[in-house]
Amino acid sequence: MLLNDRVCVITGAASARGIGKATARLFATYGARIAVLDLDAGQAEEAARDIGPGHIGLACNVTDRAACDRAAEEIVARLGRIDVLVNNAGITQPLKIMEIAPENYDAVTDVNLRGTLYMSQAVIPGMRGQGSGAIVCMSSVSAQRGGGIFGGPHYSAAKGGVLGLAKAMARELGPDGIRVNSVTPGLIQTDITGGKLTPELKVEIAKGIPLGRLGVADDVAKACLFLASDLSAYITGAVIDVNGGMLI
Ligand code: NAD
Repeated sequence: MLLNDRVCVITGAASARGIGKATARLFATYGARIAVLDLDAGQAEEAARDIGPGHIGLACNVTDRAACDRAAEEIVARLGRIDVLVNNAGITQPLKIMEIAPENYDAVTDVNLRGTLYMSQAVIPGMRGQGSGAIVCMSSVSAQRGGGIFGGPHYSAAKGGVLGLAKAMARELGPDGIRVNSVTPGLIQTDITGGKLTPELKVEIAKGIPLGRLGVADDVAKACLFLASDLSAYITGAVIDVNGGMLI
């Protein structure tokens, strides 16, 4: 199987309808052992149990460097090593440029960008030691087209930062056998977007998407599976759009 016995850490993976949980589920069906990280320990543990036996759930706020290090240590202690990290945790705020207060900027860049840096820093020493690893970073179409329906300019900026950070890590870590790639989802129906999408709005949005529908979490999970597995062994620093053709 593609991810046989690989230990895969996925941040922000407790949300029931989220991209992280769908990715964890898909990875598990391909043989991976999963560490679900999220803000709440109980929810993370429940999500891990939901995926099946042998997986673990831990509390980890990715904006806290020490918490990221502690989580990585506990995962290695309980599952033996870390082969894959998916930096998926993210938040958005639908603000316009003049509505962004300093605390909005901090909150959004902290989770999306700082969190990607901190969690990567927590796993890189171990991956370096074993001479292999794959890191997948969750950016967004908002970074590429300057905003989406739900993300403000600070979200676009943070997700653009994720793309730059991922490319820089790919360049620096390639010689250590560590690949780093990004995924840029379009409009995916999850808790971030779900509640705000009326049936009329969905029809309207779908008209602007060549594949004629909004995305589902599994669409993104499949791209993550490709980038996490040896199917992408010679790919690093790449960006995969998962947006139904929205940018064509
Ligand atoms: P979601 O809200 O369902 O999941 C996000 C998860 O991140 C939640 O479980 C939340 O608890 C967790 N989280 C938030 N702050 C955290 C922190 N500080 N530390 C650890 N975990 C934290 O959203 P989703 O739509 O599944 O989003 C997943 C990722 O995909 C995000 O990075 C998001 O920006 C990105 N994305 C989503 C869409 C979309 O349309 N849904 C589009 C492009 C990109």
